[in-house]
Amino acid sequence: MTVEELIAWLDKYQATIEANKANLSEMDTVIGDGDHGNNMARGMDAVKESLAQNPPADLVAGLKAVAMSLISKVGGASGPLYGTAFLEMGKAAKNDATFPEMIQAGADGIAKRGGAAIGNKTMLDVWIPVAKDLAANTLTADKIDRYVEATKPLQATKGRASYLGERSIGHIDPGAASSGMLFKDLLTVWG
Ligand code: ADP
Ligand code: MG
Ligand code: MG
Repeated sequence: MTVEELIAWLDKYQATIEANKANLSEMDTVIGDGDHGNNMARGMDAVKESLAQNPPADLVAGLKAVAMSLISKVGGASGPLYGTAFLEMGKAAKNDATFPEMIQAGADGIAKRGGAAIGNKTMLDVWIPVAKDLAANTLTADKIDRYVEATKPLQATKGRASYLGERSIGHIDPGAASSGMLFKDLLTVWG
């Protein structure tokens, strides 16, 4: 991935988040505190502004700038988690990792930072299978939709939704939904 592709990807994602802000916050109202769309919108506005005002020289610098904007602006659990993902992607890029290896490093970073694993009904339920599909060159938009939908029957055991216990069952995880949007936008700029 080039830095130009990174910027195109995240500019697109900023627009997607803006368009889905209410929807994501509504999902979070059902099993959380109703702020996920607003959190992500604040973060992606900061990302877009940072990339436009201080154009990064290369992919490594771009990924680091994205991470810093997300960590400092999002608030909520998702900010440090998405931020860590981009930080780890930047470190992987610095070590000449392939793009699928970068996404895997991002998923590993989220898991380490949040202490979650697959099946806990979090964004990881999208990041982990997506990283595998990218490595096998088998990622499609349909598969991403299925990974997001597959969080519905799960009971949350990490994050705010876990406070609901069994009542978290039957609803899509908002962080999984926003991650699905991130990777569907990726397919449109880099597929
Ligand atoms: P908050 O829960 O602090 O209000 P957000 O609403 O922005 O933060 O983000 C909630 C999302 O963060 C969840 O839907 C879930 O996907 C993700 N999340 C929460 N805790 C964890 C964790 N420990 N590991 C991975 N993802 C998590
Ligand atoms: Mg929330
Ligand atoms: Mg919150």
